[in-house]
This record gives sequence, structure tokens and C-alpha cells, in this order.
Amino acid sequence: VMFESLSDRLGGVFDRLRGRGALNEADVRAALREVRIALLEADVALPVVRQFVDGVTEKAVGQSVLKSITPGQQVVKIVNDALTEMLGSDAADLDLDVTPPAVVMMVGLQGSGKTTTTAKIAKRLTEKGRKKVLMASLDVNRPAAQEQLATLGTQVSVATLPIVAGQTPVDIARRALQAAKLQGFDVLMLDTAGRLHVDQALMEEMRAVAEISTPHEILLVVDALTGQDAVNVATNFSQQVALTGVVLTRMDGDARGGAALSMRAVTGKPIKFVGTGEKLDGLELFQPSRVAGRILGMGDVVSLVERAAETIQVEEAEALAAKMAKGQFDMNDLRAQFNQMKRMGGLGALAGMLPGVKQVKQAMANGAGDDKMLVRLDAIIGSMTPKERSKPELLNAKRKIRIAKGSGTTVQEVNKLLKMHQEMANAMKKIRKMGGLKGLGAMMG
Ligand code: GDP
Repeated sequence: VMFESLSDRLGGVFDRLRGRGALNEADVRAALREVRIALLEADVALPVVRQFVDGVTEKAVGQSVLKSITPGQQVVKIVNDALTEMLGSDAADLDLDVTPPAVVMMVGLQGSGKTTTTAKIAKRLTEKGRKKVLMASLDVNRPAAQEQLATLGTQVSVATLPIVAGQTPVDIARRALQAAKLQGFDVLMLDTAGRLHVDQALMEEMRAVAEISTPHEILLVVDALTGQDAVNVATNFSQQVALTGVVLTRMDGDARGGAALSMRAVTGKPIKFVGTGEKLDGLELFQPSRVAGRILGMGDVVSLVERAAETIQVEEAEALAAKMAKGQFDMNDLRAQFNQMKRMGGLGALAGMLPGVKQVKQAMANGAGDDKMLVRLDAIIGSMTPKERSKPELLNAKRKIRIAKGSGTTVQEVNKLLKMHQEMANAMKKIRKMGGLKGLGAMMG
């Protein structure tokens, strides 16, 4: 089963962590050493493992633990999120939103499962996407390749381009495109010739086909059982053609899963589908968060931590709102706000709940990128005296120059910060007029 051995190992590591009430840095580091070994044994590429473990360590060590959960549970959540990110974050379905026919070009080594996958995807597009799909095999090297696709087409009730003997791949592609246009197909799937290894002549052919058919998706099919070789093949192909995604076949037979885990990080290309069997319904959309959940097998812990985080956000939001409603929102509060945004990657639920925060977010979006901007704003507040922080109206031109110098920023940036503070304070006044906290409650739904 997919990821079974990795899942077992990680399960053991986290079961031991989970029961602990308090975790110190040594516990976390020890657990992550085991995670590192587990990933290497799963055949994940070394640089990817290193990056993963470093990222998790940085997040896990020294993070304040949320109320109502244990540190061990929090580490599980951090690992879960890092795993999801390593796998590519969002599911990447096919993007076929173009004037039809949308061309999907399939490439890959011989025996990787390319022809089978072409038929599987065509079936999925026909049944789930209600698309009218035409398939064409451009493989003139292997005898019977075109017949194989025609047979699969019959099995999944998808049309295939009639076979004309003696045509070149480019001729076939041209004819297929014309047929798709004339006959009103939504999607044209081109199954290109396989190759034994990355070979120059076939790469040229692939590029020529891509040039005349302008594919919207170029999917590389690789065999997950080949582990790191699959990742190397993907790296090679992506240097030759503009791949839009990868399909990993034979995930039904790969208990280690190293290729799946390294693919995104090494090639930068998303895994779009995985093949899970020889049968033509053995195809799954690759969903990083679900896969991470499957690997860790700790969905209960992850959702527990998510709920706890939400509760904390609401509590903090309410405390802040109470201060604001009393007209006491000062620079210290703004700073606390920035810190919370930083913790939540600038996208906290609070940001959506409090109206003034929208302006801050907007300003950040227009700025140099969330994190950098937050660091600068934080430095500005850090350069204020305690008195100035609680009474920002004290800031005259002279003080602003001093603060800008002290924080390594500019007076414009200091002004920008003051404007944000003012906008949030104004938003609060509006809320007070609506009935204070009750009004806010209504706005927060
Ligand atoms: P191609 O040469 O790349 O076109 O490969 P084929 O599509 O002919 O597939 C080669 C073999 O792999 C066939 O026997 C397929 O049934 C099998 N195959 C393809 N995808 C999968 C998969 O996801 N799981 C399993 N178990 N077998 C697969």
C-alpha cells in the first residue's frame, strides 16, 4: 500500500511524542532525527529531507504551544503542514480552460504507463468533466502502439483518431488537431512515442509536436517504482519541454513513496495524478493534504490542533476588540497584531474579521511582500519610546526622523505605519457606533 512503511515509522515516532505533556527542544530534535531516517528510508532525495527537517525544526523549536493541546500534538501538526507543502500544497487538476480543443500532450519513457494513463485521463475527463475527448497515438516506432490506444479507447468509450499508415508523428498531430476542431472535441490527448531513455532524436520529435499542437498541458508519466530515477527522468524531461505536471504510475505497488515525496521539491513540477492500478479506473487526483494525512495517519490530531488554533484566534481577537472598543488601541497592540499575522503567515482569521486589518493586509500586499514588510513595521515600533507607543499622536516630524533612523527605514514608512494604525482605530470607532462588541460580534458572524 502507498506509503505504508513510512507511515508506520512516523506513526511510531509521533505516538511517543504525543503522550508527553511538555516537550523540550531535545525531545523535538530527537523525534526529527527519526523522521529524517524514516524519510531517507522511504527513498526521499537527501536535499529534500534536509530542507524538510530544517524547516520543521525551525518551526517546532521555540514555538509557543497553543492552549488545550499538547506540544507533541503541535509538532504533529507542524510536520503535517510541512509534508503537505513538500507535496505541493494544493491539488493541481488539469487546467483546460481554453478555447477548445484543449491539447494535452503525454510524454514519458517506454513502459512507464503512458498509454494506459492517456486512456485513464480521457475516461476521467469524459465521465467526471463531461468533456468530449479525442485521443491520438503519435507512436510510429512501436508496432501496434496505435492499435493499443484504439483498443483502450473502445474500453473507455472515448474516440480515437483513425489510423493512417505511413504518417510521421507531426503529420498525425496536425491531422488530430484538425479533426478535433472540425468535430467539436473539447480535449485532444496526444500520446507521444515512448523512449527507452532520454534520447535526443525523440526529444526533437516531442518539441516539433509541441510546436504545432501548442498543448495546454504537457504531462510526464513516470513509474513510481523507479524511485529517485523517476525524479531524475522528470528533471531531464523538464529541461527539454515545458512540462505542466507529472503523473506517477504504479503507486499501488510502491510502499516507499520516495518519488512522490521528492518530485515537487526537486523538479518544481506538481504531481497531478497518481496511477493506482492496471484497471482503467485506477487513477486518482493527487491531493497533497490528503496524502500527507494518509502518511501521518493522524488526521484526528491535525484537526484538533486546527480547532485549538481557531479558538485562540477568536480569543485573541475578542481581547483586542475589547481594548479597541475602549479606544485603547495603541502601537503595542498593533505590534501584537503584526506578530500574530507573522505567526499565521499574514493570513490569520483575525485579519478577515477585523475591518481595519484589511487595510493592513492591503498595504502589505502592495508592499515588499508580507514578511519583509512586517519585519520593517515591527522595527519601526521597536524604535519608538514606550510613551510614543502608547500615545502615537506624540509623533512629530522630529521624532519620526529619529524613529526612521533608529529602525533603518524611512519617514515615509513611519507615516505608512501611522496611517495603518489610524485606519484601524477609525474602523474601531465605527464598530463602537454599531454597538461595541455586539456590533463586532455581528460582523464576525
Ligand atoms: P507505455 O509504454 O508507457 O505506454 O506503458 P503502458 O501504458 O503500455 O503500460 C505498461 C504496463 O504498466 C501495462 O501493463 C499497464 O497495465 C501497467 N500500468 C500502467 N499504469 C499502472 C498503474 O498505475 N499501476 C499498475 N499496477 N500498473 C500500471
